[in-house]
Amino acid sequence: MSDNLFDLFLDRAPRREKLALDASGGLSLTYGELFARAGQAARALVDLGVEPGDRVAAQIDKSPDAIVLLLACLKAGAALLPLNAAYTLAELEYFLGDSAPAVTLCRPAALAATRELAAKLGLHCVESLGVARDGTFAELIASAGATPETASRAADDLAAILYTSGTTGRSKGAMLTHDNLGSNALALIDLWRFGADDTLIHALPVFHTHGLFVASNVALLAGATIIFQPRFDAEAIMAALPRASVLMGVPTFYTRLVEHPDLTRAACAHMRLFVSGSAPLLADTHAQWREKTGHAILERYGMTETNMIASNPYEGERRPGAVGFALPGVSLRVADAESGAPLAKGEVGVVEVKGSNVFKGYWRMPEKTASEFRADGFFITGDLGRFDADGYLHIVGRAKDLIISGGFNVYPKEIENEIDAIDGVVESAVIGLPHRDFGEGVTAVVVTRASARLDEATILAALEARLAKYKQPKRVLFAADLPRNAMGKVQKATLRAEHQALYSA
Ligand code: AMP
Repeated sequence: MSDNLFDLFLDRAPRREKLALDASGGLSLTYGELFARAGQAARALVDLGVEPGDRVAAQIDKSPDAIVLLLACLKAGAALLPLNAAYTLAELEYFLGDSAPAVTLCRPAALAATRELAAKLGLHCVESLGVARDGTFAELIASAGATPETASRAADDLAAILYTSGTTGRSKGAMLTHDNLGSNALALIDLWRFGADDTLIHALPVFHTHGLFVASNVALLAGATIIFQPRFDAEAIMAALPRASVLMGVPTFYTRLVEHPDLTRAACAHMRLFVSGSAPLLADTHAQWREKTGHAILERYGMTETNMIASNPYEGERRPGAVGFALPGVSLRVADAESGAPLAKGEVGVVEVKGSNVFKGYWRMPEKTASEFRADGFFITGDLGRFDADGYLHIVGRAKDLIISGGFNVYPKEIENEIDAIDGVVESAVIGLPHRDFGEGVTAVVVTRASARLDEATILAALEARLAKYKQPKRVLFAADLPRNAMGKVQKATLRAEHQALYSA
């Protein structure tokens, strides 16, 4: 029997007439239409020469056809390789060269340039797919012949390869299997009580695990309807709230929406759940949101390589600043970075995870893959965390963002929490910069409210009684905002590069 995830989608599909993707511009698709179009797109891929085990790269803008393409790839037995539309041709060259896709899809306007680049790499099949069902691949879909049989796939065959954003070194292709994706979506459906009555607001990008898998797979495998929006737009989300039941967002969605004058309990009366992930949600945003809407945002934690790992409870306390408990079927531990030995509650160590959610490895990087797994099969996430007394996991930052100042470990999150609690502070990022006495100097970059009168001395004074001397920033810098990537993650490497010479000046 085949373990193709496509069959799971079909098995769990509601009636054909039910709306799957509710999109503007006449692009909505019922479940029946979604599967029919996915079948035609699978036919088009097969006709282009795609065989089970091949890769299909897609650097396209968000539209319902991005979801059609995911299903089509599954059906054809190919691994989808979604790429951020913001990547330049130079970046694309690396991804295409590394992954050697059988077919590459690009935006209509990029067709000539992408074909030229691909030809240089010995790749000869590039088609275009636009947001309005335009482009050469859309034409192939429209004229496709009979739907092919769904390819037989084993549970650990590849369903997708997602390149990690990788701020240092080469970006790595995380190989995700049919079982990785299917098992994780089913666990989340259960945990978050997803059902056919749900309507999800989807404003996330679909080249990333959050929008492509967490949001889309969960909603579609639950038979729910997705209000499919091309990008984050506060007005569009506010307008959708009265007919929706769930929103999944990155923290920036919430920090922006919470400022919206129309965000009230009444505006959210139809909503049952707000989920946040991909970056830490500020405790302050959690509190403000609760006050304005009556809803406690449910924060969860995961990464491209592992799918979702932990979540705050659906029932029970959703603790601000914490990411909750391991998902059912997922083993989670906080371990000593060197030895991998599990640490006691309260101690900070590396977060490690094992389960059917965890990826198969990095594409064509067996050594890198081996070095990120322990002998007992746990994957080393690279995040630092600790369990609190009640067993909630707290993420204190990426291991590579850990600051070692004067030989002491300083966890940026702890300092950021203290700074964020100062009246007038919007948010902060704490980084380590080269310092001749201390090795690294603890440095805070702070964003304040326009009305706040805060300077370096006031902030340092506020921290004096709160933090041990070695944790206190040596300098406090101010910025209008923090550099973020498309998923709302603060780019600390960018900040470090920008202020590299601060202490050597
Ligand atoms: P990505 O692979 O792009 O999804 O990034 C995964 C990383 O995002 C994780 O390793 C964490 O560092 C971070 N992350 C995801 N969710 C959270 C969260 N709720 N709180 C803190 N960090 C998070």
